[in-house]
Amino acid sequence: MEEYDVITIGAGGAAYPAAFRLKRSGYSVLMIDKKGVMSGNCLAEGCVPSKAVIETVHTMTKMRHFENVYIDYGKIVDHKDEVQNIRYKQHDEELKEAGLTIIKGTARLIDENTVEVKTDTGSTRYRARSIIIASGSDTFVPKIPGSDLAWTSADLYKLNAKIRKLPRSIAIIGGGYIGMETASFMSLMGVKVTVIEMLERVFSNMDRSMVDKLLPLLPEMNIKTSSPVQSIEKHGDVYRVNFGQADDIKYVDVDAVLMAVGRVPVFPEGIEDLGIEHDRHGIKVNMAMQTNIKNIYATGDVNGITPLFHAAKRQSLVAANNIMANNVPTDYFDPLSVPFTVYTIPQMAYVGILPSQAEKMGIEYMEADYQIEKDSMAQINNEMYGEIRIFTDKRMKIIGGYVIGNDAGNVINEIALAVSKGLSLRDLAEMAHQHPMTFEGLDSAARKLY
Ligand code: ADP
Repeated sequence: MEEYDVITIGAGGAAYPAAFRLKRSGYSVLMIDKKGVMSGNCLAEGCVPSKAVIETVHTMTKMRHFENVYIDYGKIVDHKDEVQNIRYKQHDEELKEAGLTIIKGTARLIDENTVEVKTDTGSTRYRARSIIIASGSDTFVPKIPGSDLAWTSADLYKLNAKIRKLPRSIAIIGGGYIGMETASFMSLMGVKVTVIEMLERVFSNMDRSMVDKLLPLLPEMNIKTSSPVQSIEKHGDVYRVNFGQADDIKYVDVDAVLMAVGRVPVFPEGIEDLGIEHDRHGIKVNMAMQTNIKNIYATGDVNGITPLFHAAKRQSLVAANNIMANNVPTDYFDPLSVPFTVYTIPQMAYVGILPSQAEKMGIEYMEADYQIEKDSMAQINNEMYGEIRIFTDKRMKIIGGYVIGNDAGNVINEIALAVSKGLSLRDLAEMAHQHPMTFEGLDSAARKLY
């Protein structure tokens, strides 16, 4: 049986950063992935292609200050495909350069050191001293009558997507970030959008005070809350989505339906027999990324902690560092300092502890804000709305913050660094942020308390 120091199950963002680091340090590494290519769902159907579409629409929206520009959706999809192709090629070259191999197949855990890989030609077993489970997540499709009639985000964003023309109207089931990002770009492309959310508000897992600031800034869309979808029916070319409580069913007739009710972890076979602890949200790990079996790690979406590519990458490196320390934890993942950007138009980005969580934890906090209408770069971009808000504890240590509006996804990173490194508001106040950049709002906000 072939033996390796490390095997990764999956070759997405939770696997390959570890593989590269370990290989560079002289470890033998084998990656196994069903797709047979590096970079997982982020590039296949997630963050990269969705942003290729949304950013293009965002640019178009900025142009509309001068002229009513409209870009054909087919051209936007061509651009998305091109970006995916460029990145696949780039990753292939990086893989070759690193001398790493990916086997195209499905991995199954046999014991704590053995993995069986099923390929088109048969099954082979490999041994490894450490294993990283990085098998990611998949779109969740609930068992609602007619749910197979709906698109998922993969239909929109996969390579060579067939959807190259937008419908006149769409019902988006689910008011989480995937649903709301799609809703906002489609609305700006002229689609009549209805978002149908089961819970009492959209972005239900995010801080209410922040979300309440974003909602009035979003492009026109009809949002139905407390509205569980009961069924989807097809009548000729029209889809009817029935929603609401049993005694009060309403419906909307649309040209297309998108199911965006979340993602679920994908577990490799064998975790039950091996006794690897998990529940429906993911495989249980400590912050060194170890499962209850110390030489088996679970990184990225499969552990459900922070299902984002950049969190997966950091977790992957934590696992690599701990493998290099002979499975004795020396490096830890910090979920509180992972920034999260919602790519609606405008964007909303946040990190760390926000008011609702601070209140739950009994933390007394202070806040400093900056209104983006006053920001020079926002004025240059014609995006004069939103705000930066930074939260600190009583000793002025930054515990969290959010940014809504111009360049939010970039600006949040500095607040994340402050949270991660325990910086104080004074550190931000004393920094000479560049002008004209939305970042300068950070020291303006900080100086309100200094
Ligand atoms: P993450 O961001 O956590 O890395 P992704 O979903 O991007 O997650 O990547 C996970 C990858 O793992 C996908 O490419 C998927 O095809 C692959 N995968 C999932 N289950 C298995 C398995 N049992 N064997 C091999 N590859 C798998």
